[in-house]
Amino acid sequence: MIRSIVRYGEHVLHEPASPVGEITPDIHTLIDDMIDTMYAAPGVGLAAPQIGVPLQIFVVDLSAGRASGDLMVLINPTFIAREGMQTEDEGCLSLPGFNATVVRPARAVLTGLDRDGRERTVEGTGLLARAFQHEMDHLDGTVFVDRLRGIAREIIIRKIHKLRRAGKW
Ligand code: ZN
Repeated sequence: MIRSIVRYGEHVLHEPASPVGEITPDIHTLIDDMIDTMYAAPGVGLAAPQIGVPLQIFVVDLSAGRASGDLMVLINPTFIAREGMQTEDEGCLSLPGFNATVVRPARAVLTGLDRDGRERTVEGTGLLARAFQHEMDHLDGTVFVDRLRGIAREIIIRKIHKLRRAGKW
């Protein structure tokens, strides 16, 4: 089921998510909904807080559903390694219409559980490393604008406030 994506400013996006205890049928339904919502958007990643659920789960698929086998589901993920540096443009389904250049490590290795509760280690470089770190940020209550400094951040925040006042956010 496609769920609505919450936007910057909603509390659930700005607070740390809780670890998943048991992987119940409800968690499986939640994961299926996250995948449906990500593909419908369309997007290449989605974290549970983005559909209003403060749990440590994210889904990533750089092909946005076009290539089978690219979909990754990670529950209670933690970083094992982060190294290097990349500077690229980044956006977020919770901030539609906004992009900014964000500095991220070039490589990231994570460990977590898959949807069946099996421990998995995933490694990404380039865009995949960026996607992992973007979604990990969501689980910490951080969105990409929080990583910007100075005028770049101010411009986006000011535009969002303006849209909110106009009832368009
Ligand atoms: Zn995002």
